[in-house]
Amino acid sequence: MEKNILDCVIIGSGPSGYTAAIYAARADLKPELYTGLQAGGQLTTTTEVDNFPGYPEGVTGTQLMMDLQKQAERFDTKVHFETITKAEFATQKGGVHTLWAGDKEILARTVIISTGASAKYLGLDDEQKYAGGGVSACATCDGFFYKGREVIVVGGGDTAAEEATYLAKLCSKVTLLVRKGEFRASKAMVHRVMNTENIEVKFHHELIGIEGENNLVERAVVINNQTKDTAKIEVHGIFIAIGHKPNTDIFKGQINLDENGYILTEKGSSHTNIPGVFAAGDVKDPVYRQAITAAGSGCMAAIDAERYLAELEG
Ligand code: NDP
Repeated sequence: MEKNILDCVIIGSGPSGYTAAIYAARADLKPELYTGLQAGGQLTTTTEVDNFPGYPEGVTGTQLMMDLQKQAERFDTKVHFETITKAEFATQKGGVHTLWAGDKEILARTVIISTGASAKYLGLDDEQKYAGGGVSACATCDGFFYKGREVIVVGGGDTAAEEATYLAKLCSKVTLLVRKGEFRASKAMVHRVMNTENIEVKFHHELIGIEGENNLVERAVVINNQTKDTAKIEVHGIFIAIGHKPNTDIFKGQINLDENGYILTEKGSSHTNIPGVFAAGDVKDPVYRQAITAAGSGCMAAIDAERYLAELEG
């Protein structure tokens, strides 16, 4: 029996995946979307989203993702609550790509990868306990809740420096915990941090615990890893900014990635180095990482996929 070859398969169910689905479905590509383990993506782990255009009163991350799913389904996107576990991309233009969800084989002319990135955490039990109660990995998403309050940022890279300077504009004080005696961040970012009055940098300091009533952060327990002295800092928010890991493990060796594992796309487009494979959202974006930028790049990927198919058909 001849196997069904789909025009468009979308991997991932964050804002980029669902936006790609909306556009691909409206272009009659009959997309099928595989949600992955965390249906709805990173946004389902945040609380209120106040910066997504079109929601003047704000919206919860979960509601926003349910709305995007509904909108994609309205145009006949088939949503599979399954995880793509393996991919084999055809390297020739017009080739058919093969994906697997466990034992199930899926054939597609175009694939849009929107598998996102996962924020890295320290691995403390308390991070789980206080998630949603003061522990966050996104200052742009959650910083607003700590207006006028004291917060901690953990990390010494560009993300931590950027989160700290962003939070310093909202919060009364930001304590930045850097585990080494130096930053990994670029000179320009370090300069900004060092010249922001309400940021205190504590080198050689690590977060080892969190305290608070009713799963709400009240204190951070920190250690000086040189003297081994511990201390408690009164804070309401703790931002973990030690990097993100793009979800590209299953594509390694098949598609061009940068040194941190992000998918490389042609400038100003969603084209990867493989014809018919497109990337959208955080999986290709170490810089902006916002729901709205992810949604925008999902739209680009669907348009690129549609044009690629149209070109094949002549
Ligand atoms: P990085 O990997 O560059 O930095 C991670 C930081 O977190 C390092 O300081 C690291 O410490 C620290 N860290 C890691 N694990 C732990 C831990 N368990 N406990 C305490 N600290 C820890 O990640 P970023 O997300 O900052 O940046 C990723 C990439 O994205 C970089 O290339 C960066 O330049 C880029 N980027 C660019 C931006 C921009 O251009 N505006 C903004 C944000 C990111 P150590 O140094 O000791 O290993």
